[in-house]
Amino acid sequence: MKKYSKEIAVTIALCLLLGAVAYRVVEASNSLLPMFNGKNGRVILIDPGHGGSDPGAVSARGTKESALNMRIAMFLAEYLMSYGYEIRLTRGYKGDALGMDEGLSSNDRKRIFLETDHTLAVSIHMNKYSDESVKGAETFYYSQSEESRALAELVQSSLVAELDPTNKRQIKGSSDLYVLKTGRAPAVLVECGYISNPTEEMKLLTTEYQRKVAFAICCGIMRYCEAYGV
Ligand SMILES: [Zn+2]
Repeated sequence: MKKYSKEIAVTIALCLLLGAVAYRVVEASNSLLPMFNGKNGRVILIDPGHGGSDPGAVSARGTKESALNMRIAMFLAEYLMSYGYEIRLTRGYKGDALGMDEGLSSNDRKRIFLETDHTLAVSIHMNKYSDESVKGAETFYYSQSEESRALAELVQSSLVAELDPTNKRQIKGSSDLYVLKTGRAPAVLVECGYISNPTEEMKLLTTEYQRKVAFAICCGIMRYCEAYGV
């Protein structure tokens, strides 16, 4: 009996030791993995606009909106995950984002917005206009939602501060952008810039600027979550 208790005691001690080592390893690997997600309990639905056979807007030099939307969406996902947010994407990521990606019908998108349990949603797009001089990021929200309006204000002020303090664009309410009114949570649509403006297009094609846009949107989302306790 005494021998058994000694063996049990040794086994328990070994288990505790192994447990402590395993805990240290997990803790160390987490600290090396800033993309560990889902820690703060908030789920962000990111919708990279268009995709597949629908390129969205295409610039004179052939830049496809859908590819840029995906690039910025992926950087946004990376930033948000590093701050503990969980991410859902409406469309996936295949190979090089400036090449292949999957498309979704508008019904598929609506279904994802309806069925995904999320804290808030952001749809990523690029703008195009006949006048080449027109430029600047702008944020849309569903006009029937006060929460969406508040989120749009914070995202737009972050975009202005991070990308171009001279950008005077105001947020715009809309009642017919289906992705904004379909979901149950606050939602905004960000037009990150004009690919019809050659200077803005060149910036949008660089990884550095794509990251800046994504970081600005991330900051706006974080400020909203803090300010409104969602
Ligand atoms: Zn678009």
